[in-house]
Amino acid sequence: MIRSTGTPPPLSSAEQLRYARHLSLPEIGLDGQHKLQQASVLVIGAGGLGTPALLYLAAAGVGRLGIIDPDCVELSNLQRQILYPTAACGSAKVEAARDRLLALNPHLQIDIYPEAFALANSADLIAAYDLIIEGSDQFAAKYLVNDACVLAGKPYIGASIRAFSGMLAVYAAPNGPCYRCLFPEMPAPETVPSCAQAGVLGTVPGLFGVLQAHEALKLILGIGEPLIGALLKIDLLTMRFQRLRLPRDPGCPLCGESPTIRTLTETSFVCATPTQRPTDTLPWLSVAASQQRPALRWVDIRTTAEFAAGHVPEAIHAPLDQIEAWAAQVEPHEELLLYCQQGGRTVQAYHRLQGKLQGRVSLLRGGYEAWLQGVSAQTSATS
Ligand SMILES: [Zn+2]
Repeated sequence: MIRSTGTPPPLSSAEQLRYARHLSLPEIGLDGQHKLQQASVLVIGAGGLGTPALLYLAAAGVGRLGIIDPDCVELSNLQRQILYPTAACGSAKVEAARDRLLALNPHLQIDIYPEAFALANSADLIAAYDLIIEGSDQFAAKYLVNDACVLAGKPYIGASIRAFSGMLAVYAAPNGPCYRCLFPEMPAPETVPSCAQAGVLGTVPGLFGVLQAHEALKLILGIGEPLIGALLKIDLLTMRFQRLRLPRDPGCPLCGESPTIRTLTETSFVCATPTQRPTDTLPWLSVAASQQRPALRWVDIRTTAEFAAGHVPEAIHAPLDQIEAWAAQVEPHEELLLYCQQGGRTVQAYHRLQGKLQGRVSLLRGGYEAWLQGVSAQTSATS
């Protein structure tokens, strides 16, 4: 896939030592190492999938790496995003990642984009790299990456994970399928729990991120059988690995014979940044603002297991799946503040309560994790 131009330049003695285990493989050697040095990979999302992928791509000597992510490192990331040290909390992920990767391998060029992957920047970013690794936890971003890669003719390695399982494939390769061949339409956001809601064992994204880097290296080197036209599913509780055939769908709305999506503006996703989301009109309260209202009754809408693991003192527990029945028993005139883990599920709760408890419900912005951050900031200020 990556064109090699003539005899590759010799490696320095330090590079010969660094890449010695590649150079002694007949499938890689000096030619292969040169292909890696000449290659560029864009990693979309520097989270659970992107960070292990980045570590291995950098260690392998992929010459130019792009990293796009709008977020800062948070304490709750560190259980799985092993690229970041605790001291990086509060720093931009892309900056912390660049520093760590250059410490690992100073021979690389690392481009960073502290922004969301969105309609406005997607085409330019994808055009600037040979290969893309899709490591987002948002469905809208997954569809945007897919559509932008298919329209640009750039292959990408996509992975989706759940608590203890996941799947992986190379999409948008020549003659290969795309993500819409598998899932033509984006699911409604409220039907899909994100990792923040569903939880995940840290090794699961770790393994899938490493597999994404592995497939990228194979594609760059032109070795083996990449997962094109095939889907790898892994259940990590039972350790069952399945390789399924994934043919291109002639009826695919994007890469099929009569596509209905021909430009990115025809895609049906909403890839808004957090400040543009339509949920901005909801009655959110920050942790600081909530402390000015001592009469508020705090309501934890998370699962029983999440509530048992820790909750706001004095909060009552009303799980999301029983929220309507619970609302029927709320005392008149009681002012309520709903919270979940990070804020997403309270939007669902709010919509389910439409027509009930009119004007008496607020939502905690950032959820229980925002409240915990407030507590830990107070503790460190007073200790
Ligand atoms: Zn398709």
